[in-house]
Amino acid sequence: MYKKREGGKYHLAANPFTVIFLGSKCKAMMDEFVNNMESNASDRVHKEFENRFSIKCPICKVVNLADSKYCNACGTVLSSK
Ligand SMILES: [Zn+2]
Repeated sequence: MYKKREGGKYHLAANPFTVIFLGSKCKAMMDEFVNNMESNASDRVHKEFENRFSIKCPICKVVNLADSKYCNACGTVLSSK
Protein backbone atom coordinates (compact mmCIF):
# COMPACT_ATOMS: atom_id res chain seq x y z
CA MET A 1 0.00 0.00 0.00
CA TYR A 2 1.01 3.61 -0.32
CA LYS A 3 1.93 6.13 2.29
CA LYS A 4 -0.09 9.31 2.28
CA ARG A 5 2.09 12.22 1.27
CA GLU A 6 1.56 15.92 0.69
CA GLY A 7 -2.05 15.83 1.74
CA GLY A 8 -4.47 16.58 -1.07
CA LYS A 9 -1.83 16.47 -3.81
CA TYR A 10 -1.49 12.76 -3.33
CA HIS A 11 -5.08 12.30 -4.27
CA LEU A 12 -4.32 13.54 -7.77
CA ALA A 13 -1.17 11.46 -7.94
CA ALA A 14 -3.15 8.40 -6.90
CA ASN A 15 -4.96 8.34 -10.24
CA PRO A 16 -2.20 8.04 -12.85
CA PHE A 17 -3.59 4.73 -14.05
CA THR A 18 -6.95 6.30 -14.67
CA VAL A 19 -5.30 9.10 -16.57
CA ILE A 20 -3.22 6.68 -18.62
CA PHE A 21 -6.24 4.52 -19.28
CA LEU A 22 -8.36 7.44 -20.43
CA GLY A 23 -5.45 8.84 -22.37
CA SER A 24 -4.78 5.63 -24.25
CA LYS A 25 -8.48 5.08 -24.86
CA CYS A 26 -8.81 8.60 -26.17
CA LYS A 27 -5.79 8.07 -28.40
CA ALA A 28 -7.25 4.83 -29.72
CA MET A 29 -10.48 6.61 -30.51
CA MET A 30 -8.61 9.40 -32.23
CA ASP A 31 -6.58 6.91 -34.23
CA GLU A 32 -9.74 5.12 -35.28
CA PHE A 33 -11.37 8.41 -36.16
CA VAL A 34 -8.38 9.49 -38.22
CA ASN A 35 -8.17 6.11 -39.92
CA ASN A 36 -11.86 6.27 -40.81
CA MET A 37 -11.44 9.77 -42.09
CA GLU A 38 -8.52 8.73 -44.22
CA SER A 39 -10.14 5.62 -45.62
CA ASN A 40 -13.53 7.21 -46.24
CA ALA A 41 -12.63 10.60 -47.53
CA SER A 42 -8.93 10.53 -48.20
CA ASP A 43 -9.11 11.34 -51.88
CA ARG A 44 -11.80 13.99 -51.57
CA VAL A 45 -10.13 15.70 -48.63
CA HIS A 46 -6.78 15.54 -50.32
CA LYS A 47 -8.14 17.08 -53.51
CA GLU A 48 -10.06 19.69 -51.55
CA PHE A 49 -6.93 20.53 -49.65
CA GLU A 50 -4.94 20.84 -52.84
CA ASN A 51 -7.56 23.08 -54.42
CA ARG A 52 -7.79 25.38 -51.43
CA PHE A 53 -4.27 25.58 -50.17
CA SER A 54 -2.05 24.81 -53.08
CA ILE A 55 -1.49 25.33 -56.75
CA LYS A 56 -0.12 22.53 -58.86
CA CYS A 57 2.34 23.71 -61.44
CA PRO A 58 0.95 22.97 -64.92
CA ILE A 59 4.44 22.43 -66.26
CA CYS A 60 6.29 20.27 -63.75
CA LYS A 61 3.33 19.18 -61.53
CA VAL A 62 5.03 20.33 -58.36
CA VAL A 63 2.52 21.45 -55.72
CA ASN A 64 3.10 24.99 -54.50
CA LEU A 65 1.42 27.01 -51.77
CA ALA A 66 -1.79 28.72 -52.86
CA ASP A 67 -0.35 32.21 -52.61
CA SER A 68 2.74 31.36 -54.60
CA LYS A 69 3.31 33.64 -57.57
CA TYR A 70 5.87 31.37 -59.15
CA CYS A 71 6.51 27.64 -59.13
CA ASN A 72 9.13 26.69 -56.59
CA ALA A 73 10.62 24.12 -58.90
CA CYS A 74 10.64 25.61 -62.37
CA GLY A 75 9.69 29.26 -61.88
CA THR A 76 6.57 29.17 -64.03
CA VAL A 77 4.10 31.96 -63.26
CA LEU A 78 1.20 30.42 -61.38
CA SER A 79 -2.28 31.83 -61.93
CA SER A 80 -4.13 32.38 -58.66
CA LYS A 81 -7.80 31.46 -58.51
ZN1 LIG B 1 6.84 24.04 -62.05
